[in-house]
Amino acid sequence: MRIGVIGAGPAGLAAAYDLTRAGHAVTVYEAAPEVGGLASGFKAPHWEWSLEKFYHHWFQSDKAILGLIRELGWSDQVLFPRPYTVAYVNGRFQPLDSPLQALRFFLGNFSLLDTLRFGVVTAYLRLTPYWQPLERVTADAWARRWYGERVYRALWRPLLVGKFGEENLPVVNMAWLWARLHARTTRLGTFIGGFQAFMDKLAEVVRKQGAEIRLNCAVTGIRRRTAEGGRQMLRVEAGGACEDYDAVISTSSPALMAKLAPELPESYAAQLRALKSMGAVVMVLSLTQQLTKYYWHNLPKEAGFPFLAMVEHTNYISPKHYGGDHIIYCGDYLNPDHPYFRMSKEALLEEFLPALKRFNPAFERSWVKESWLWKTAYAQPVPPVNHSRNIPPLRTPLKGLYFASMSQVYPWDRGTNFAVEIGRKVARLVMEDDQAKQ
Ligand SMILES: Cc1cc2nc3c(=O)[nH]c(=O)nc-3n(C[C@H](O)[C@H](O)[C@H](O)COP(=O)(O)OP(=O)(O)OC[C@H]3O[C@@H](n4cnc5c(N)ncnc54)[C@H](O)[C@@H]3O)c2cc1C
Repeated sequence: MRIGVIGAGPAGLAAAYDLTRAGHAVTVYEAAPEVGGLASGFKAPHWEWSLEKFYHHWFQSDKAILGLIRELGWSDQVLFPRPYTVAYVNGRFQPLDSPLQALRFFLGNFSLLDTLRFGVVTAYLRLTPYWQPLERVTADAWARRWYGERVYRALWRPLLVGKFGEENLPVVNMAWLWARLHARTTRLGTFIGGFQAFMDKLAEVVRKQGAEIRLNCAVTGIRRRTAEGGRQMLRVEAGGACEDYDAVISTSSPALMAKLAPELPESYAAQLRALKSMGAVVMVLSLTQQLTKYYWHNLPKEAGFPFLAMVEHTNYISPKHYGGDHIIYCGDYLNPDHPYFRMSKEALLEEFLPALKRFNPAFERSWVKESWLWKTAYAQPVPPVNHSRNIPPLRTPLKGLYFASMSQVYPWDRGTNFAVEIGRKVARLVMEDDQAKQ
């Protein structure tokens, strides 16, 4: 088959890897100048490693991506350090990511009953494989009821509001929180050289297997076309040229997919348009010195920080890979109409920099060597109650056209692991449908 793949993020490259391995002729279209999608990175001239534009790590439970890496023989290039996460609770940064630390924090801040309740409910969520009943209720209602108001307000509400905004508290289902607690590990993984190094190596394999990867090549349309002999094909329009394919896989956002393929039946297009998501704004700063001792700082919106998370990357990966620079991310998930999306880097620096003194009172502006600002309108799908009923299938009703995006990853929270899984799944569907035709 001739197959077009839209997007060279982890899903598109994983699909292209399996399809080329099976002998199909694949062209990958990528709008950006590099492969990697949301997991792509950048590099200052004096850095040895690239740095993800948006903070990224793997969990030890990320079977699909770690399995692909094993298959490729690169497991020796995966590192799993144990960085530390803290949450800002009651005016202090509290380490909470080990059972002992959590116990100490709870006994110091909550009653014995609240502490026991937290332990039992968290153990239940970590152990139960049954997420289906949990998707029928909001995380807000379930966590408030079972953890109790005090624990809910201190821990889970800030997390939900931070990730999805206050307006989505009556929307997000409890299976999302279950997935977060069920499968995450404290050791966090990366690839030697950064995620970009992994994505580049994967792209190289895909090219060697025969795929053509066209960078800086945004697809502007996908239409049905009847070729010679009545063969049904799909025409991909990109860069003013058109090419015909037996099958096309799109890994774009749902909103863009609905626009790219206007011949999709209205029922499917409406399903695409109904999917909600948050955008992300992330400022990266390189500093002359270390700001804190921790990697991940969870920040509740009501504590008045101008961002949701402060991530000191070089407390996870040594500064020696970044020419001695200390690197921090200040990031937030926001509605794409939030003013941050329209603000310049300079205006956002004015907003963000004063808050860094709250992490280290000695912080001075002169510590900042360089800054980079990354924004994306499609960063985090919002899973509503009974989301499993609303997910558009990977096979679209337009014959030969497939769609695989972050919004169809469920009940797990999106991530490169699940992008690889869905990319390989959609490649399998394309090949099964081809077999069925013969
Ligand atoms: C702030 C943030 C933090 C994250 N943290 C983590 C983490 O810690 N760990 C983790 O595993 N994951 C993390 N993720 C999620 C991870 O990046 C995504 O799940 C993953 O990249 C999704 O892969 P994908 O291939 O489905 O989509 P994408 O990575 O979005 O790739 C889609 C690609 O399609 C291209 N494209 C779109 N439209 C067109 C078009 N018309 N023509 C051509 N090309 C097009 C885009 O340019 C893009 O390269 C994070 C994401 C964000 C935003």
